[in-house]
Amino acid sequence: MSSRLKRGIRRLCSTLSIPLLGCAPAERWEIPHFEPWVPEEFHPASIVPETKTVIVIGMPVSLPAVETSPSIWYHEEYRTVNTLLDINAYRIAAFLNAKGYPSVALPRDGYGHISVLIERPVAFFSHRHAAFLAGLGTFGVNNVLLTPRFGPRVRFTSVFTAAEIPPDPVLEDPLCIRCMRCARICPVHALPGNDYPDGLTDKRACASRSEELLRHYVSPCGFCIKVCPVGDDRKLYDRETMEIYDERKKEFNRLHRAWRHVRNYGGGERAPGMINKTPPG
Ligand code: SF4
Ligand code: SF4
Repeated sequence: MSSRLKRGIRRLCSTLSIPLLGCAPAERWEIPHFEPWVPEEFHPASIVPETKTVIVIGMPVSLPAVETSPSIWYHEEYRTVNTLLDINAYRIAAFLNAKGYPSVALPRDGYGHISVLIERPVAFFSHRHAAFLAGLGTFGVNNVLLTPRFGPRVRFTSVFTAAEIPPDPVLEDPLCIRCMRCARICPVHALPGNDYPDGLTDKRACASRSEELLRHYVSPCGFCIKVCPVGDDRKLYDRETMEIYDERKKEFNRLHRAWRHVRNYGGGERAPGMINKTPPG
C-alpha cells in the first residue's frame, strides 16, 4: 500500500480544484453486506480484473445555480461539472499510468442519450455506490449520495487502478435527516419516501421528466437535491433557512425573486406553463 502515492493523488486533486477524493479497495464490492445493491457484473474487478483500488472524485454544483432549476443556468453548470469530472479522471489515470500503475478513467455517465436511459435506466458502473464505498457520503431518501460538505449537490466519477492505495473508511452514520422534502417536491412522484435501498427511485419517471426538460434545454430536474437541507454549502451561501417561498404572498423570498426571470431564458421560455407552474422548491 502506497501512502506516498495517495499523497501524490491528493496534491494533484488539490491542484485541479477537486474537493472530494476517496479510495475504496475493489474487494469492498465483494462484501456480502453490499451484495444486494451491486450485482457482480457491476463490480470493478468484473469490468477490469486488474483493479485493486477505485479512486472516486467529487465536484459540486453550486447551490444558487441548482436552486433556479429548471433553468439554463443549472443546465450549463451541470454540463461543466460533468466535463471537468471526465477530464480530471483522465488526468488522474494518466498520472498513475506514468508511475507504472495501470489505470483507467470511467465515463461519468454510462449512456448516450436520455432516451436510452428511459429504456434502460442504469449505467454499467455506479459512481454513487463507489463514492459510498470510498467513504464520501451516505444515501438519502432521494437515492442520491449525501456528503457532509455539499449534501447531494455533488457529482462523482471513478478511476480504476492496479495500485494498492490506503482505503478511506465507509461513513457509518447516515447524513439524511428524513425530512422528506425531496419526496414531497418531486413533480412526478418518483421517490417513495423510504430509506435507500428499500425506497428505490422510479427511474423511468425521473428520466422521462429529464427528457421533457431536455426538449427545452433546461434539464436536469434537480428538485430533490436543491431542497435537501444537508450540506455545509448551505452555510457557505447563507441558505440554511428553508423558508424560500412565501405561501401567503405567492412570492419567492429575497433570495429567489428572480427565479422566473432566470428560467425564462435560454430555452425555458419555450416551455410556458411547465416552467412557471413548477413548484418553487
Ligand atoms: S430529479 Fe426531479 S424527477 Fe427525478 S427524482 Fe428528483 S425531483 Fe423527482
Ligand atoms: S431532503 Fe430530507 S429526506 Fe430527502 S435526502 Fe435530504 S435530508 Fe433526506
